[in-house]
Amino acid sequence: MKNQKYVYLFNEGNAGMRNLLGGKGANLAEMTNLGIPVPQGFTLSTEACTKYYEDGEIISDNIVQQIEEALSETEKVTGKKFGDKENPLLVSVRSGARVSMPGMMDTILNLGLNDESVKGVTKLTNNERFAYDSYRRFIQMFSDVAIGLEKRKFEDILDSVKEQKGVKYDTDLDAEDLKNIVVQYKQLYLKEIGKEFPQDPKEQLMESVKAVFSSWNNPRAIVYRRLNDIPASWGTAVNVQSMVFGNMGNNSGTGVAFTRNPATGENKIFGEYLINAQGEDVVAGIRTPQPISKLQQDLPKCYKEFMDIAEKLEKHYRDMQDMEFTIEQGKLYFLQTRNGKRTANAALKIAVSLVEEGTLSKEEALLKVEPKQLDSLLHPTFDEEELKKHTPIAKGLPASPGAACGKIYFTAQDAKAHHEKGEKVILVRLETSPEDIEGMVAAEGILTVRGGMTSHAAVVARGMGTCCVAGCGELKVNEKEENFIVRGKTYKEGDYISLNGSTGNVYGNVLKTVSPEITGYFGTFMAWADEIRRLKIRTNADTPRDAEQAVKFGAEGIGLCRTEHMFFDEERIPAVREMIVSDNEEHRRKALEKLLPMQRKDFIGIYKAMQDRPVTIRFLDPPLHEFLPSEIEDIRDLAEEMGLSFEELKSTIENLHEFNPMMGHRGCRLTVSYPEIAEMQTRAIIEAAIQVKKEEGYDIVPEIMIPLVGERKELKYVKDIVVKTADEIIAAEGIDMKYLVGTMIEVPRAALTADEIAKEAEFFSFGTNDLTQMTFGFSRDDAGKFLNDYYDKNVYESDPFQRLDQSGVGKLIEMAVQLGTKTRKDLKIGICGEHGGDPSSVEFCHRIGLNYVSCSPFRVPLARLAAAQAQIKNLR
Ligand code: PEP
Ligand code: MG
Repeated sequence: MKNQKYVYLFNEGNAGMRNLLGGKGANLAEMTNLGIPVPQGFTLSTEACTKYYEDGEIISDNIVQQIEEALSETEKVTGKKFGDKENPLLVSVRSGARVSMPGMMDTILNLGLNDESVKGVTKLTNNERFAYDSYRRFIQMFSDVAIGLEKRKFEDILDSVKEQKGVKYDTDLDAEDLKNIVVQYKQLYLKEIGKEFPQDPKEQLMESVKAVFSSWNNPRAIVYRRLNDIPASWGTAVNVQSMVFGNMGNNSGTGVAFTRNPATGENKIFGEYLINAQGEDVVAGIRTPQPISKLQQDLPKCYKEFMDIAEKLEKHYRDMQDMEFTIEQGKLYFLQTRNGKRTANAALKIAVSLVEEGTLSKEEALLKVEPKQLDSLLHPTFDEEELKKHTPIAKGLPASPGAACGKIYFTAQDAKAHHEKGEKVILVRLETSPEDIEGMVAAEGILTVRGGMTSHAAVVARGMGTCCVAGCGELKVNEKEENFIVRGKTYKEGDYISLNGSTGNVYGNVLKTVSPEITGYFGTFMAWADEIRRLKIRTNADTPRDAEQAVKFGAEGIGLCRTEHMFFDEERIPAVREMIVSDNEEHRRKALEKLLPMQRKDFIGIYKAMQDRPVTIRFLDPPLHEFLPSEIEDIRDLAEEMGLSFEELKSTIENLHEFNPMMGHRGCRLTVSYPEIAEMQTRAIIEAAIQVKKEEGYDIVPEIMIPLVGERKELKYVKDIVVKTADEIIAAEGIDMKYLVGTMIEVPRAALTADEIAKEAEFFSFGTNDLTQMTFGFSRDDAGKFLNDYYDKNVYESDPFQRLDQSGVGKLIEMAVQLGTKTRKDLKIGICGEHGGDPSSVEFCHRIGLNYVSCSPFRVPLARLAAAQAQIKNLR
């Protein structure tokens, strides 16, 4: 049998091989085919990564052999030799997954340098300083990434040499200093590792490839994958590419650029570069770069060539490109191109512009925007009037737009810890690195002292839709003492600041914000989504305010109004408690009498907010003791208020205690015990509808939803109460009013017997929160505590409470849809669990033919787009 191919030269691939070669590898191959100057090399496929893990983290002989063959091809193409003391080949070793995961995995540059080849580089470039600087960078990077030696120990050596010499910058060190540093670095390596720094470039290469494969499973990559729904099984490819040098004098340089502005979407090249520098200086934000326009003055020929290729790449990929380039002694090379990460605003503007420019169809444009990205547009921005009233304390670069207010913290760990306590936090750093990812996720906003618009902080923040001000050099940050000083004032850990990511302004207090609106490009884009989608989008809303917000965001109805949320109101809770502790029907009815007008008023408000859009109202669902006080003092006060003795009330509360309330006396089980609750709620729903119909003329058809049903007769029992009560009211009013009675499908037994249940139910709504809980058999309130262990051990890759478990819970849903529609052809079916606002789950709902999904108001636009994308993908 022929050996499987794991290694591909750049001229053996193309853009369509992304799954196999990773995004970076596929695009390097594509650029090579397009005749764009790319330093040549080869890609180890994602299958090689999977094999590496299958083999117990070993690179098999077959793969080693293929690497060696590809290496000798690369030597031929470049005319250089690995480890040669005359004309050495140096390579970079970089990760490249199917989708870009900026900074999450490892990279090694200048590989191939050793005591011999460093002399070759010296001769070739006539620049000893450059050669030894590259060598010392390589030792440091290799030791850190491939061997796990602490970076800090190398930095200490570098700092002590600078100190002895009395200089401040690396650039002040000469060749002799750097040679001395190389000697010390190698001594450190020997001391720490117990063997010499590897001189054989092939050994260096194999160790580095292993390190990059292993970095697929480093903690920050795992977190990033979970945040972005990237399966662990994909693995990463590894690109081995011959090095070109941007730090070979003033006719060299390196930079990154986007074909359009990634923050605003403006159709104008946007980039930064550094003269006489290596790529890592730009990405790490260590030196603050120049705008790309400066290249026109410095090296006009390269600038023109660069601009021509950038345009060609955007046309070719039909999307905004993010490119890395290096100029080595006047010759331009492209190191990478990819579809650029962009803010949600920019994404919408670019998508709409590409349609207007005739490059994309509407369908293609709709697929260009991640539904989850829309989230950042739905968050408040600063009120313009408020901004006028306050003077900024500092100004940095507007790296990622948005408004953020919060308490400042100076480490990612602190930011994460305080966020978990419920605080709004702003992460303040000199510069961020990939290790900060969890703190960045937790933060409302990110503020950095160093780094430009393409620094790590800026790129990652834009990708996450988090507000970021970068390169705010005015701040004197003291990370050790956890404070910063600006314009003579000190801001300590825990102090409040506000960031305006659209202007770069920083404020020393909390600023007022305003709600967003869907207008402009956003409006145009969403209108296209609405033209295409089949699924209806409803919202989960319990108050008129939420309902109004959802309608503004495009909701077409309410899919779930949880009536219990109305019971917690301060004015109502006494009557609710009275109802609960009543020991006979008469008392309970008295308490319910008090609640009736309040509930009716709630529903009137909701119907009015929704005009004549459909509204599904669900009966009381949670276990009753949730409404009762648990503290002794509160019980005493309540007893007094209700004219009961303390002991009497305490014993009632104790009687209501359940070992597993989520599986206890809740949902329709309450109505089976106390039918008068259903009577009151039906009355409130129908009377409110009649009143609004009379006053406003809306044609309201209330949808009454019974929760937690698991048995047809159980549903029938409750339904009979609803029908009797409703019909009496309607008859007494002499009005024509239709209403529907349906059920939630959230107990597995309901799904299994859906054909029976559908005999009584006019609609189904999948309560996937409970259905997930009961199918997995773990509590939705407690699972969070141990699910992290499951993610760490790759048992689950995502939270089944957020992303529908299609193979388990989904199977029950599909079965229930089939059984239900067999009994009742016109059964209306939706979903109202949290999954209704998750893009992959929306796609599932579309595929199995549901009528609607219902989600929280702020997720409505996301669901509209996800539904359109599902329709487009299915059509293809
Ligand atoms: C559900 O279980 O999915 C649901 C929507 O109901 P609740 O979250 O109120 O239990
Ligand atoms: Mg439920």
